[in-house]
Amino acid sequence: MSDYTRTLLPIRWPDGPRRRTYDVVIIGGGGHGLSTAYHLATRHGITSVAVIEADYIASGNTGRNTTIIRANYGIPESIRFYQHSLERYQQLEEETGAAILHQTKGIVWLAHTEMAMRTERARCAMNEAAGAQTYLRTPAELKELIPQLDLTGGGRYPVLGGSHHVQGATARHDRVAWAYASIASQRGVDLFQHTAVTAIRLDGGRVIGVDTTAGPLDAGAVLSAAGGRVTQVAAMAGVRLPVRTHPLHAFVTNDYAQGFPIILASTELACYVSQTERGQMLIGAEFDAQPSYSRQSSYAALRSYSYKITRLLPFLQSMRILRQWAGICDISVDFSPIMSATGVDGFYVTTGWGTWGFKAIPAGGEGMAELIATGRPSALIAPFSLDRFRRDHVLADAGSAGTR
Ligand SMILES: Cc1cc2nc3c(=O)[nH]c(=O)nc-3n(C[C@H](O)[C@H](O)[C@H](O)COP(=O)(O)OP(=O)(O)OC[C@H]3O[C@@H](n4cnc5c(N)ncnc54)[C@H](O)[C@@H]3O)c2cc1C
Repeated sequence: MSDYTRTLLPIRWPDGPRRRTYDVVIIGGGGHGLSTAYHLATRHGITSVAVIEADYIASGNTGRNTTIIRANYGIPESIRFYQHSLERYQQLEEETGAAILHQTKGIVWLAHTEMAMRTERARCAMNEAAGAQTYLRTPAELKELIPQLDLTGGGRYPVLGGSHHVQGATARHDRVAWAYASIASQRGVDLFQHTAVTAIRLDGGRVIGVDTTAGPLDAGAVLSAAGGRVTQVAAMAGVRLPVRTHPLHAFVTNDYAQGFPIILASTELACYVSQTERGQMLIGAEFDAQPSYSRQSSYAALRSYSYKITRLLPFLQSMRILRQWAGICDISVDFSPIMSATGVDGFYVTTGWGTWGFKAIPAGGEGMAELIATGRPSALIAPFSLDRFRRDHVLADAGSAGTR
């Protein structure tokens, strides 16, 4: 349980670029950029680092997500990577001294058809083999776990069973970002808010720096951690990525009695719900089919998400919707992340985080920092390189996104 009295370290805000030259420039002050900066400083002693954020820290998807942490993926490479991240989250309060409100709740994925039951059965076997704790549950066991669940699915989507990933968790998203930001800045990393990168400068196929709205910076290495804007940023270095940007929405209701026991999801209906620390019910569902950079909330999403989730939890019908928002997600063609060098010397990307990258922030930053510091990917991130698409070694795992 979180110690709420723990506070974050103050951040040093340089008034403008204090240096003209950095070893590493990170584009994007979301979770992945900040976690990389933190790990560069704390693990590799690299503190000549600037994080350049166009808006404010965690203003992108890191501050907009539904905070679910899980490792119940469908392929061994992903299960191992996300399980490592999940375990890093369990230690993050100790490691950073910041209250990130981490709570292990368990997550249930419901199956409404025989085909989905087969998928969840296979998921349990694969998870167990690769190190994540996921068990098949009967409808009666699910009802015991979640007394509010309508096993008839509103008479339309009967619950035949489901998988139960017992280490599923949530953590307060913006606090994760600020925890990494504050420690990185204490170690000497410079954080710039309201400063956009407008160009990546190259010399003979090598990165030499960036142009920003506050002036140019020279850099030995540049990392794009730009969330849904990644294809635009990568194009600045002439790199084309197999990524499209799609909006994803979420909303919260008014408070429900504290103690809703679990994170509940249906992959077939593509919807999910959990309870926030304040008691609000936090609901998400599938991403928009139409690629777009719009963060405008839509009534269509609200109506579709509400319809689906109230089939499973009828008590939600009497709740009021307080707030709705959207983020723009960098969805890779195989639904797996890309943590990689790019073929342009000194230019790296951490992307393809789509609708699932919050859970990966500790392990993703750790992996990218090692890659940038040593020039070699760790065994955990090596499968997620960009050249897997050229080698025809894609990591197809759309069924584990839970949002399509
Ligand atoms: C509604 C919603 C629900 C989600 N739910 C979950 C969930 O439950 N669990 C989960 O694991 N994941 C979830 N996700 C996905 C998760 O939030 C993201 O994958 C993750 O936050 C990505 O982090 P990031 O650091 O890569 O990107 P971001 O947090 O988006 O950060 C990128 C930053 O780059 C900045 N930037 C862009 N272009 C430039 C530029 N040119 N110059 C400078 N800065 C720039 C942006 O302003 C932004 O702050 C959800 C996403 C959404 C939208």
